[in-house]
Amino acid sequence: RFAYVNGLYLRHAEAVVHVEDRGYQFADGVYEVCEIRNGRLIDEALHMARLERSLRELRITMPMSLPALGVVMREVVRRNRVREGLVYLQVTRGVAPRNHLFPAEGTPPSIVVTAKSAPSRAGDSKAEKGVSVISVPDNRWERVDIKTVSLLPNVLAKQAAKEAGAYEAWFVDADGMVTEGSSTNAWIVTADGKLVTRPAESGILRGITRTVLFEVAKAAGYRIEERPFSIAEAQAAREAFFTAATAVVMPVVELDGKPIANGAPGTIATELRRRFHEFAAVAPAR
Ligand code: PLP
Repeated sequence: RFAYVNGLYLRHAEAVVHVEDRGYQFADGVYEVCEIRNGRLIDEALHMARLERSLRELRITMPMSLPALGVVMREVVRRNRVREGLVYLQVTRGVAPRNHLFPAEGTPPSIVVTAKSAPSRAGDSKAEKGVSVISVPDNRWERVDIKTVSLLPNVLAKQAAKEAGAYEAWFVDADGMVTEGSSTNAWIVTADGKLVTRPAESGILRGITRTVLFEVAKAAGYRIEERPFSIAEAQAAREAFFTAATAVVMPVVELDGKPIANGAPGTIATELRRRFHEFAAVAPAR
């Protein structure tokens, strides 16, 4: 395996960053994860636009032009011979003597790109059975709209899920409403077939899969309601699912130990998963 690190393509085992990288010391950086399907980057332009936004919000310099970044990502995918999998990209504020203040002007940001094969195609086998979710209090900072590598609450939530025999954790805000998953956006389907997901304006990362699913679902005739929902509403819902580049559309069959509907993956979630794949296969590069 190979990784791109600050201008070099290195063997994965030798791909390292400096001990005083701001990402290592302060989690002072941002990232993106893109699905690769049939050797193509899915929704690349949307991921790149979100990367630029995350960097702008944190006042980190864009390390290279978007076209150059596209070349690097493709080269990493190619060198790793990935057909189905994920590409990971991380940019940090660079290497500087440890100090909370931003480094001196002109300090170059660090950039790392890796790619890996995911033989199960974004969880196809998992999606056939559906997954269990637990809820945890949302104790994250307020800027969860930025895709930063500062993910400690997300790490703890995902681990708590695993230790409870579940696959994902959904964060719940102080008002008892679901914000999002540890690395996914949360959705439910109402009795009359409406899709409900939290507005992107507060408490969540604006997932690219979420954005694209709006388009896919609307084209298929579904109505979407952007509003918060509670765990109790989700447990009583017709279906529940979550979205992410790493999971596409993943049916949720159990929430805090309660089965959702009959405890099998919902037909709408399953249909949307299929439609998302079909859409990604034919959509022009964007
Ligand atoms: N929410 C959080 C907290 C995430 O970390 C992610 C993805 O990593 C998502 C939502 C889903 O975003 P996307 O669909 O762009 O993968």
